[in-house]
Amino acid sequence: MNILDNPIKDIITIKNFDGDFVESKGILHDIINPATDEVIGKVPDTKPEEIDTIIARATRAFQEWRQTSPLIRVRYLFKLKELLEENFEELSRIQTVEHGKTIDESRGETRRGLENIEAACAASTLMMGHNLEDVSSGIDEHCIYQPLGVFAAITPYNFPFMVPLWFAPYAVATGNCIIIKPSPKDPISQYKIAELVLEAGLPEGVWNVVNGFNNATNRLLEHPDIKGVGFVGSTSVAKYIYENCGKYGKRVVAQGGAKNFIVIMPDSDLNKVIPALLTSFFGNAGQRCLAAGNALIVGDNKFYDRFIKMFIEATSKISIGYGLDSDVQMGPMQNIEAKKRVLQYIELGVEEGAKLKLDGRKFSIKENLSEACFIGPTIFSEVLPTMRIAKEEIFGPVANIMKVDNFERAVEIINFSNYGNAASIFTNSGRLAREFRYNVSCGNIGVNIGVPAPVGLFHFGGMKDSFFGTLHAQGRDIIRFFLEGKIVIERWF
Ligand code: NAD
Repeated sequence: MNILDNPIKDIITIKNFDGDFVESKGILHDIINPATDEVIGKVPDTKPEEIDTIIARATRAFQEWRQTSPLIRVRYLFKLKELLEENFEELSRIQTVEHGKTIDESRGETRRGLENIEAACAASTLMMGHNLEDVSSGIDEHCIYQPLGVFAAITPYNFPFMVPLWFAPYAVATGNCIIIKPSPKDPISQYKIAELVLEAGLPEGVWNVVNGFNNATNRLLEHPDIKGVGFVGSTSVAKYIYENCGKYGKRVVAQGGAKNFIVIMPDSDLNKVIPALLTSFFGNAGQRCLAAGNALIVGDNKFYDRFIKMFIEATSKISIGYGLDSDVQMGPMQNIEAKKRVLQYIELGVEEGAKLKLDGRKFSIKENLSEACFIGPTIFSEVLPTMRIAKEEIFGPVANIMKVDNFERAVEIINFSNYGNAASIFTNSGRLAREFRYNVSCGNIGVNIGVPAPVGLFHFGGMKDSFFGTLHAQGRDIIRFFLEGKIVIERWF
């Protein structure tokens, strides 16, 4: 690998953005490249009064922005999309450096983020209202959709480029202003997008970025001029956001954590299933809300044993290292605490009596890197649905394998989970696939798909403890979220 391929040459001090880049007076914290353990930047814990200034500017900008034609509003997004495409490779490399994922995974993330800008460009059509003449004699009734003001998007570390784009382009296209608070663990992607927002010429105060930790979230939650919050992150924080939005009278989308299941029926072709499972369990080093956590193998002992053998064989070949090296298939965990959490779960699995078939604590890295955040893929077999490793979100490269007697029992186990983000089935039976999607309580269902990630045109599902709210991120749902429906009943004498 050529080290010059790293686009971050000097330590970056992240600034906030409200149309101009503004230096914060808040305390600076390190941003670490998890593959090398080097400091690559500094991120401020922005002070409440600085956040208030940005909210005030966005509130002023809203007055003019809402009067800008929707056709013109989306032209700024066309321009932004063009600039993001021009910088596609650099933006992808930044994600790898600040997050640790492989360069292919980063390119995938950039593409998925851009899809949301494309989807948001349809807002001018999707935000149209409806009407009916003569609801009573000579009386007509109309429903018009209007933007509300300034929204906040509070986002997690695992997709630093994409997740803020589940909200920001839709907010802006519908005539609102947005303040993004990215994860302080990897805020560089949003800093770079802000540079391109500036180049695209969006008016000041329309697209904003505020950096910070818990206090920044809290200031956005309690501020009266923030009309609503889009949140993506862990379940405990999602609940907190949901409760506080209720307390402060704001609308909210709160997407939480996950524990996802994959059912493998005995009629499926394991040569096709295994590669899909590798991506689902170990892609992004397991740091995906759609990552598989538990595989439920339906069938006899012969099928189960064959599956375990093939799965371990394929998993053992995954090459681990610096994601900028295109031969690497799995990067590090994004941070040391995340690695510690995974190590604790591996110990717990052993204590709970699951069989450790592949131990991620023993691994080798391709290059001479810091091992601080690295961990190898782990496989447990003989896992029971009642074990904590089967119930809790590990958010790392750990695969639990369970043997299940039949399809009905598999559905029962999935529905027993507190989470409801995603579930997939591998089968050749159309009947079982239909029963699966009909009966499983999860927001994203895959049929012969390892990672059922909706494209930007569709909303991103989630049920039970994986989601709090009514309308979800992405697609038509988020366009509706950003609009108030006003009813006009009209009569002329
Ligand atoms: P997190 O909940 O720790 O942080 C998310 C955001 O909330 C960050 O911006 C963070 O600064 C802020 N935050 C964290 N704790 C806070 C607190 N106590 N008070 C105020 N603000 C706080 O999540 P994470 O670790 O960054 O991301 C991983 C989690 O996100 C996983 O649980 C994963 O499943 C989930 N996730 C869910 C989805 C989905 O669509 N359901 C998508 C991606 C990630």
